[in-house]
Amino acid sequence: MIVIEHCAVATVDGAGTEFEEGHVVVQGDRIVAVGPGTYQGAGGTRVDGTGCLATPGLVNTHHHLYQWATRALAQQEILFGWLTELYPVWARIDAGTVHAAASAGLAQLALSGCTTTTDHHYVFPRDGGDLLGAEIDAAAEVGLRFHPTRGSMDLSVKDGGLPPDSVVEDTDAALAATKAAIDRFHDPSPGAMVRIAVAPCSPFSVTPRLMREAADLARAEGVRLHTHLAETVEEESYCREVHGCTPVEYAERLGWLGPDVWLAHAVHLDDGAVARLGATGTGVAHCPSSNGRLGAGIARVRDLLDAGAPVGLGVDGAASQEAGQLGPELRQAMYLARLRGGPAALTARESLMLGTMGGARCLGRADELGSLEPGKLADIALWRLDGLGHAGIADPVAALVFGPPATLRLLLVGGRAVVQDGVLSTVDEAVVAAALTKSARSLREPR
Ligand SMILES: [Zn+2]
Repeated sequence: MIVIEHCAVATVDGAGTEFEEGHVVVQGDRIVAVGPGTYQGAGGTRVDGTGCLATPGLVNTHHHLYQWATRALAQQEILFGWLTELYPVWARIDAGTVHAAASAGLAQLALSGCTTTTDHHYVFPRDGGDLLGAEIDAAAEVGLRFHPTRGSMDLSVKDGGLPPDSVVEDTDAALAATKAAIDRFHDPSPGAMVRIAVAPCSPFSVTPRLMREAADLARAEGVRLHTHLAETVEEESYCREVHGCTPVEYAERLGWLGPDVWLAHAVHLDDGAVARLGATGTGVAHCPSSNGRLGAGIARVRDLLDAGAPVGLGVDGAASQEAGQLGPELRQAMYLARLRGGPAALTARESLMLGTMGGARCLGRADELGSLEPGKLADIALWRLDGLGHAGIADPVAALVFGPPATLRLLLVGGRAVVQDGVLSTVDEAVVAAALTKSARSLREPR
């Protein structure tokens, strides 16, 4: 049993319950008590949270972990130019690169308060080895709850797509490998540490047939669906030209709207599209920093929330969001919403909700993750707010969201300590960084 006490608590439950000073009690991998004041029970390991804020662990809804090894390339490009420059570099990844990059990306996520992350892996070079296995190993080593997706691309330049032949797969082979990944890794049981989703990459790199059959496969297997959609104006032009409709209309035509789907970005939506995402319960992974990095636009987060769509936060791949930290995305999301809709467009508490419960809804885990409530999994971030950056801010949630990136007193995943006093307790940060440096160099300077 672990008793975290003397800290502020933001539960992010349905009523937005908060305690100025409260406690959270963990037994095994579950939360067993949350309340005001000190915990009256005896025993357990006591964690003094004085000067800290306890929140649910953050949930990252979009990433490409392998990209951690290809950062700061194509620095001034829009999405299509950026992809065109990076595809040939990505064609050289293998299991070693993916393990090094994923370890680094996951470690950085943990240090920024993230306890559950997805990953959208869609580049499978022919002789690359066991790429999904490599990143699942990395997640087990770092200690994060992991929802990797088996991505895919089957539409190359010669068929009117964007990627070169070297990074796409045959349609049937991609579907078979996706099925195999579900059989091998997906754990549907309560408290699962690994769940798989199905994730063809984007309208300009995937055939309609792969989109349709991937949706059929996911629904037959009872797993979720993920893809990139409506990220840029260029993608919208592509869809109008090739399919005669908007990206959201295209997705709906293929059976890709619904409560088992979450879409990365969804920046360029008309009113009808916002309404359809809300009505169908389709989730959105909002990636504010990546959208800024690529100059893609500002998503209609306020409108999506008002329409009832689940919205989570994503760091996106590190090749288009080099910082790779989820904590600071709370502030980025709030700022972008306000740039679009004024200073009342998104509150600090709504932003925290996006990063926790919103993400849990996108990943289909709202019953187990996303809030601090008895019975839920013990995925908890205990943020230090008594240092120079936050001292004196009376409202701890505002301190976390408006203030500078906070360090962690403690990060628990399923009751296990992954970060303690700002340091990873599971892997050695210096070893992870050194392996990454080596992998990144090998991708830049191929033999
Ligand atoms: Zn992405």
